[in-house]
Amino acid sequence: MSATTLDLSPAAILRRAATIIDRNGLMIADYYDEDQQICEGTSSRDCRVCSLGAIAIAAGLPPTAWASTIKQVDPISEVEPIDPDQFEAALAAAEAFAKHLRLGLPTDDVATPYRQQVRSNRLEVAVGREWNDRPQTQETVVDALRAAADDLLLVDAPNGGGATSTHRTLTQAELLAEAAKQFGKDPMKWAFQCPSCGDVATGQDFKDALAAHPRKHSNRKPVLASDVIGQECIGRTLGALKGRAGSWTGRGCTWVAYGLFRGPWEVTLTDGRSMWCFPLADAVVGVAPDA
Ligand SMILES: [Zn+2]
Repeated sequence: MSATTLDLSPAAILRRAATIIDRNGLMIADYYDEDQQICEGTSSRDCRVCSLGAIAIAAGLPPTAWASTIKQVDPISEVEPIDPDQFEAALAAAEAFAKHLRLGLPTDDVATPYRQQVRSNRLEVAVGREWNDRPQTQETVVDALRAAADDLLLVDAPNGGGATSTHRTLTQAELLAEAAKQFGKDPMKWAFQCPSCGDVATGQDFKDALAAHPRKHSNRKPVLASDVIGQECIGRTLGALKGRAGSWTGRGCTWVAYGLFRGPWEVTLTDGRSMWCFPLADAVVGVAPDA
């Protein structure tokens, strides 16, 4: 892989990193699996790797690139030269990934010659130790890398994509205005689409489902249609949570907008907090749910 032919945009790097972990497997607590390298003679780029190791490889670097500045002061370690532009691309991709995961990196600028190393160290703690090594599963890491790449592509096309899994940020007022414009003033006619199974459910659908299958909040107050529309797939109200996982054959599924994979729409509230919801149905008409 030569740097001249490699797309070093953060989205392209994160997408390749997902493919690498899909193929090599996930490593916990190290950049790559050194035992695999020693015992099986596998190249470090083909061994099990952690999130950061995969991002480095995806930027055309060895998985240990993050530690390279440390290794340079350790004469025993074998050091592969690190291209500064490729390392900068890996840093930017990893920082975008941290932002997607809401891992809160300090935003202060470090004006020293060691700036890249400081950023690398912060990423090692936030993305490596405190996220990847928590530990994650191979599936959650691959999904998160792909979702982060999707997030980045959306920056260029704020209303673009149209896929039900596409992240979008809007204010509460914008969401209400858009829903009223598409479906009219009656919230019972508003429809959201589940990003997992593609089911389109209106406020009325939820009202009917809750009438047939009443639910209560933990404070004993009844769950209303307005509590769950756009927040949960209607399957949760209809009974998809009962029985063995995967055994539900009725309408909808168990997906929620506030789960591990949030949204995909992020609604910013006037007090600065944000909540997550499914996309309005009209915005995704004709798009396969898993596009
Ligand atoms: Zn669903």
